[in-house]
Amino acid sequence: ALTIGIVGLPNVGKSTLFNALTRNQVLAANYPFATIEPNIGVVNLPDPRLDQLAELFSSARIMPATVSFVDIAGIVKGASEGEGLGNQFLANIREAQAIAQVVRVFDDPDVVHVDGKIDAASDLETINTELILADLQTLEKALPRVEKEVKIKKRDAAELAELQKAQAVLERGDTIFSSIASDKLEMEHLRELSLLTAKPFIYVFNADADVLADEAKRQQLADLVAPADSVFLDAKLESELMELSEEEAREMLEMEGQTESGLDQLARVGFHTLGLQTYLTAGPKEARAWTINAGDTAPQAAGVIHTDFQRGFIKAEIVSFDDLMDAGSMAEAKARGKVRMEGKDYVMHDGDVVEFRSGS
Ligand code: GDP
Repeated sequence: ALTIGIVGLPNVGKSTLFNALTRNQVLAANYPFATIEPNIGVVNLPDPRLDQLAELFSSARIMPATVSFVDIAGIVKGASEGEGLGNQFLANIREAQAIAQVVRVFDDPDVVHVDGKIDAASDLETINTELILADLQTLEKALPRVEKEVKIKKRDAAELAELQKAQAVLERGDTIFSSIASDKLEMEHLRELSLLTAKPFIYVFNADADVLADEAKRQQLADLVAPADSVFLDAKLESELMELSEEEAREMLEMEGQTESGLDQLARVGFHTLGLQTYLTAGPKEARAWTINAGDTAPQAAGVIHTDFQRGFIKAEIVSFDDLMDAGSMAEAKARGKVRMEGKDYVMHDGDVVEFRSGS
């Protein structure tokens, strides 16, 4: 499944954000280490194209793509040495495809900060260091085993060299992900170790309304983590929005000068960070978005609906969303020659409206 793990220092708003993500109340409390059990929150990826498709095809329902978030414990300075809840809780995010780090920007004298002050740059550094140390431990545990396997010729020496190269990157204080290009890291064998810093990161700045409205301040924070993506939201506001009707929620957002909820932003940015895209299907039953990797071929896309569709793939009838909307109906799009028959080698585009022909 497509999942994003959430990390951050205690009391930065992880549980509050996660409550908003799940619309459930998980334990949110004003003390460190409140978050213990991992949970999963599934968020719809907002996609206005689905509404238009549903109207065109008189679809009974809309099925958006989803992004899943995994809640995890706070990380404190020394977590890799067993401080706080220690490293076992990092296990929950090892399986995630990306990591969202929540960074506290909001100032509230009633909410203690573990290090006693609000300092985004210092918090980023703390979490970074802990994740790098956790990865170093993982590598140090794996290396003797791999060395042995190379000796008895069960493994190629190149694999060992790859792990040692990664170790050097971490030892100088860099993350694997940020060094893939500069250090020409081969990810093939590193992947099986599920290193945390090998995953793409999204930064979620949990801020109050004044910072959300302050373009310069936001830019300053975004610059701290660039080229990684950042999202700015008010976790407390987001969890309050969940209590409201859609219309009330929109009004409340407008009052804060926002056009899109932070959760919608987060789902969108998560999709972007993971290099994902969607294609669309539509009929009287449903208008639906399906998640694929950028670069997937038509049979791979068919496989997301059903593995039989991939195996039995013959061809796909495809029209781009924009062409379909310009035409106003499938029949008119066909008359205009905009509906194409594509074969096995076709590389999917975001927003392709598709009907698969399969032999099974
Ligand atoms: P976690 O330890 O990172 O999971 O943090 P929590 O979500 O439990 O939040 C800790 C405290 O900060 C709670 O009392 C929240 O109500 C409060 N809090 C969370 N987000 C915000 C925010 O955006 N603004 C303000 N003022 N308080 C917040």
